[in-house]
Amino acid sequence: MELSKRQETILEIVKKEGPITGEQIAERLGLTRATLRPDMAILTMSGLLEARPRVGYFYSGKKPGREMAEKLHQTLISDIKSVPVVVPEQCTVYDAVVTMFIEDVGTMFVVREGGLLEGVISRKDLLKTTLGGQDIHNLPVGVIMTRMPNVVYVESDASVWEAARRLIAHEVDALPVVRQVKGNDGRIDLEVVGRFSKTNVTRLFVELGEGGY
Ligand code: ADP
Repeated sequence: MELSKRQETILEIVKKEGPITGEQIAERLGLTRATLRPDMAILTMSGLLEARPRVGYFYSGKKPGREMAEKLHQTLISDIKSVPVVVPEQCTVYDAVVTMFIEDVGTMFVVREGGLLEGVISRKDLLKTTLGGQDIHNLPVGVIMTRMPNVVYVESDASVWEAARRLIAHEVDALPVVRQVKGNDGRIDLEVVGRFSKTNVTRLFVELGEGGY
């Protein structure tokens, strides 16, 4: 939001002297209260200033960027995750390519019985194998996937910010959203319950830009 020069000055006065009444601000500027009314309305509506009856105006401490940051930390993966596309480890590279086209995703998760996470397969994994001239009708994806424990994942109660940070830090396009489950042998397994990709981030970004989230 662009502030006018006068609004910037008001903000500075309130930051330094708040709480301060409208009368006093007007006095500092050598203007009438009526002249300042539209500026005060803009500054309070935008959340930069808060007004308390009989106390006056004070600076809310919220920079406009802070609100966006709060939204990104408050929005949880469970609010915006997508449905995962999964294949079994025995699925051939050929069938995985077909599934990728049909489901229109860039990353698929490889699971065993119960939807338990085994690995991740991306566009480039499939492309590389195909270019390598291997027999893609007989080669199972289990051979070429990125396997646990090297898979970067996220849980539903993580924030969108944390998940997006992992996408960037690990240079991947998508993360499986998982739930921890205890196996028969007491081992902790990860059940795939969703997909979080750069598309989810972009969609949220567009919604935030529209002010609609
Ligand atoms: P693309 O192949 O379209 O460039 P990525 O950049 O996501 O997609 O994948 C690059 C490599 O990282 C691939 O080898 C893939 O198996 C691996 N990969 C993809 N997602 C993950 C993830 N969540 N955790 C670990 N490795 C991943």
